[in-house]
Amino acid sequence: MYYIAKAKNILFTLFCCCILLSNVAYAQDKSQTAPPPNLPSELFDNTPLTPTKIFDNLYCIGTKSVVAWALQTSDGIILIDSMWDNNDAQLIIDGMKKLGLNPQDLKYILISHGHGDHYGGAQYLKDKYNAKIFMSNTDFYYMNNTFDGANVSRSPKCTVDEFLTDGQQITLGDTTVTVVSTPGHSPGCVSFIFPLKTQGKTYMAAQW
Ligand SMILES: [Zn+2]
Repeated sequence: MYYIAKAKNILFTLFCCCILLSNVAYAQDKSQTAPPPNLPSELFDNTPLTPTKIFDNLYCIGTKSVVAWALQTSDGIILIDSMWDNNDAQLIIDGMKKLGLNPQDLKYILISHGHGDHYGGAQYLKDKYNAKIFMSNTDFYYMNNTFDGANVSRSPKCTVDEFLTDGQQITLGDTTVTVVSTPGHSPGCVSFIFPLKTQGKTYMAAQW
């Protein structure tokens, strides 16, 4: 809350596509990508969305079930979350190209929490572009020890280069992202505050 109060400009909220599945155990069929019968199929809808520029420095790429955010800085791209799997990672790459972004500029991948629809594409992107992956220590443990709900084998576990901590500031070029610990959705879930630019003005956004 301190960081939100500190923000001087309008606070935008970005919709965070999260799927609370961690307590939903369903058959761990290794090829399972179909929705469990007790959950809406929309949560697993892989229909691509049109890659979209939301602000001058923020782009949305994803499907009807989940999206990733590309934050353009003066020294490269920060990606927030990485969707479900390697196929989604490739969708992110293709989407960046359609938006005029160069995937080679991908430097940081911030994983908000340890559910498969957020970390699943990270390792693919790291291996391809040598990007640095960030996640909280708590959810790194959670990811590696959870194998049901959103954490089935569809989503490859990823390595982490740096653990996110409450109040941490991550700077790339002209852009600083502030990390806020917001456990609840998962044990080590974090949220992000960062600047967005439009029509010559800069606003502060919070994503959780
Ligand atoms: Zn989630």
